[in-house]
Amino acid sequence: MSEKKPFEVARETLKQLTTRKLAPTPLNYQNIYNEIAGIPQVPQFPMDTLRDIAKALPTKTPGQQKHRGLLEYAIDRMNWEGVKTALVAYGGFVPASTSDAQPSGSAPALTAEFMGQIGRLIEYALPALGTDDERFREQTTGLLKALKDPASDVATLKLMLVNYSHRLSFAAKDQAEIKTVLLKLLHLVFENIGELSLEEQWLKGQMDALMTASAPPLSLRRLDDVERRLKDVIFKQKEAKERTVAAQNEMREMLASFIDRLSEMTQSTGTFQTKLEESARLIEQAKSMKDIAPVLKDIVGATRHMASDSQTARDELSAMRERASRTEEELTKLHQELDRVSSEARHDPLTGALNRKGLDEAIDRELSTVRRKETPLCMALLDIDNFKKLNDAMGHATGDSALNHLATVARESMRPQDTLARFGGEEFVILLPDTPLDRGIEAMTRLQRELTKRFFLAGNEKILITFSAGVAQLAEGESGMDAIRRADQAMYLAKRAGKNRVLGA
Ligand code: GH3
Ligand code: MG
Ligand code: MG
Repeated sequence: MSEKKPFEVARETLKQLTTRKLAPTPLNYQNIYNEIAGIPQVPQFPMDTLRDIAKALPTKTPGQQKHRGLLEYAIDRMNWEGVKTALVAYGGFVPASTSDAQPSGSAPALTAEFMGQIGRLIEYALPALGTDDERFREQTTGLLKALKDPASDVATLKLMLVNYSHRLSFAAKDQAEIKTVLLKLLHLVFENIGELSLEEQWLKGQMDALMTASAPPLSLRRLDDVERRLKDVIFKQKEAKERTVAAQNEMREMLASFIDRLSEMTQSTGTFQTKLEESARLIEQAKSMKDIAPVLKDIVGATRHMASDSQTARDELSAMRERASRTEEELTKLHQELDRVSSEARHDPLTGALNRKGLDEAIDRELSTVRRKETPLCMALLDIDNFKKLNDAMGHATGDSALNHLATVARESMRPQDTLARFGGEEFVILLPDTPLDRGIEAMTRLQRELTKRFFLAGNEKILITFSAGVAQLAEGESGMDAIRRADQAMYLAKRAGKNRVLGA
């Protein structure tokens, strides 16, 4: 230990900082101070990291708030013991009591509990590892049995665990690869359906949206979205196919009867022609009116026949025309029906966001989660500022692309568990599960910032899209639509306050 007095150590430390040309940071100061004073170097207290961890801990219940407060207090005082106690209390673990009758270091007790914990860990991880590998399954069963058996000795268990870890690393990698490949396949299928149906614009839009929805990172919620979307597409494609086949059959039938009629007419015209030629020859050879009379009678008969044939042909052709126009009407009706079906789908074909029907279903799902898990749910309603002006200045098609741009940026800046829905013309609703009001407002402000970074490009022109938004946190017993109504009121206030802002309801 140094003989120096503290102020001498401090002076020497400052001198050394200068001599060694070190930056005068607290860390450098402390290191040199310890070195001069002969104090062993202790690892730095990771204040910032611990503060980050504390900040990330949810404070939904009063208990969580209290324990997070205690944790922050201990971090501020660099008190490791306090940090430990607060974390143990926050996690709801039973703190290891020092006055416990069982000696705290008791190997058998610790081992049994520890092994039990590992066993549970393996059981929880199993569903993620698939069931295809028979040997891996056997190994898992064997290990779990051994872990639960109090008679198992530690050395054997350790060996089994080492072997298991080795195999587990392959199984986990396999699963990850299978997931990636399946996703690639899925994209390939989407791409192909899109290619096959190029002429169906609505289908193309849906396919693009599907590709976006199935891009990683995936969550169950997003997969659910993909499934619903795919069902919509399959349903609509079936309709479209049936419609086309029916129309083709009609046309084929009409064409066939037209050709029949045409050949009949040619034939009867040919017969008439022959008859006329024959009659002309007979008239030439006739010596008296007596010879001519039967020929004339024949001509009149043939002409009548010809006229009646023509009349029949005309009637049939006009009937055919009628049928054709009826088919056309039916096709128009089918188109309208398809549009209706399309509107009954859950997604908006322009932006790929959920439509009102999809939103209703998503709200139902979120509300049941809220009831089950008692987590906060935020609903944000945003309305693009001065959209009419943009439409008027740049045209409706550019307006459409701007809507699409907003939806894309929103989707990319949201978390996978958030839901985007088109509420009306240029209004969108975003559902933010597990989010209290202040975080909901933050999320929408983040989206505003993102839009200032990612301009909308109309040709070469950069256009800044802004929106006004209201955010409401679902209150107890409140319906989803009531919360959206509150968000709408807050959005309206945001417009009144000058637009391009987010207000909480
Ligand atoms: P404010 O800032 O107050 O919201 O003004 P605004 O112009 O955005 O709002 P307003 O309600 O006056 O106009 C909305 C416009 O959005 C009018 C309508 O033509 C347009 N719109 C609605 N749906 C669509 C769409 O699908 N495509 C395009 N291009 N325009 C749309
Ligand atoms: Mg509006
Ligand atoms: Mg608007």
